[in-house]
Amino acid sequence: MVSGGTGYLSSWIVKMLLEDGINVNTTVRDFNDEAKMGHLETPKETSDADLNLFEANLLKPGDFDEPIKGCELVIHTASPYILTGIKNSEEELIQPALEGTTNVLESVNKNPTVKRVVLTSSAVAIYGDTVDIQSIPNGVFTENEWNITSTPDHQPYSYSKTVAEKKAWSLVMQQDQWDLLSINPGWILGPSVSKRTDSMSINTMIEFGNGTYKSGVPKLWTPIVDVRDVATAHIKAGFTPNASGRHIIVSEEATLLDIAKILRKHFGNEYPFPKREAPKFLFWLIAPMYGRIRKYVSRNVGFRIKLDNSYSKSDLNMTFLPIEQTIKEHFNQILDDGLLAKG
Ligand code: NAP
Repeated sequence: MVSGGTGYLSSWIVKMLLEDGINVNTTVRDFNDEAKMGHLETPKETSDADLNLFEANLLKPGDFDEPIKGCELVIHTASPYILTGIKNSEEELIQPALEGTTNVLESVNKNPTVKRVVLTSSAVAIYGDTVDIQSIPNGVFTENEWNITSTPDHQPYSYSKTVAEKKAWSLVMQQDQWDLLSINPGWILGPSVSKRTDSMSINTMIEFGNGTYKSGVPKLWTPIVDVRDVATAHIKAGFTPNASGRHIIVSEEATLLDIAKILRKHFGNEYPFPKREAPKFLFWLIAPMYGRIRKYVSRNVGFRIKLDNSYSKSDLNMTFLPIEQTIKEHFNQILDDGLLAKG
């Protein structure tokens, strides 16, 4: 059972499982929203696996009982991914992440067939702000760290992922039917299976090409990883019997300007990709216009970060695509699917 089959990441997990011949139950929030579900079908030429769709809302206890019935593996990925313009962090982020994880795991407890749960957490459950790197002994984040700086008011998305992952680790301790692995990806980029544009990862890549950042980007380092590698990590986590624990899933750290340079190298000057980094104080001044609080700018712009992905390489035998390929193929998909007008 994969929760949230309409999502950017889940779509890849579902697709890869079906291509591997594995039967999949997946959930969608609203059966009437056909635009979000069009891509959810078994690739008949290559697979005879079954795909079963269920309607389920993270906020409704019991909604996941039926989708999970008879399954051995649960991959819980559905959770809101919103970074800006948040008006009520409790309702928009924290409740669906935290109550959603609790509801899914309570449904797991009712289904004795489940042996393993793989939870999509995030690198932001490891660190809250990039400045946090300064308090890490070796200057590299590992799976031993937890985000201790986010709150419902400051970095609420990161807070929602942290409390949801912590809840899952506390619930797994209360039973011995299933074990838990978490996948903690950095910023996910790479081609999308669907033509949706409302997923943050897809929307941000479109913004690189539509001129949103043409006057400059902040000097912001992010850990980047390809969506196909993140999907693979979930599947390896599900099917590697001796694997355990948390897993940082990151290829390389890069700045927003690094991303723009890769885009310009492959797509030329046809699109208004950002050409420069603008000063930190400017972003501090205008942060509220972009739906961010100034504390976010103070604690994140200008701090270089590093995450250690060695555990996922040894425990899950992961390899990672270079981010240049990820970014190039992501932008190509956006152009091929007509999601961005030619510059
Ligand atoms: P996405 O495309 O926005 O997908 C989010 C999914 O969650 C959608 O299927 C959405 O359903 C579902 N969802 C949200 N609220 C729900 C609710 N109340 N009930 C049922 N379903 C609900 O985002 P994504 O990038 O694929 O993210 C997937 C997971 O990866 C999330 O757990 C996110 O925190 C994690 N993650 C993402 C990134 C990244 O850079 N993208 C990085 C690290 C971790 P609808 O389609 O109906 O909206």
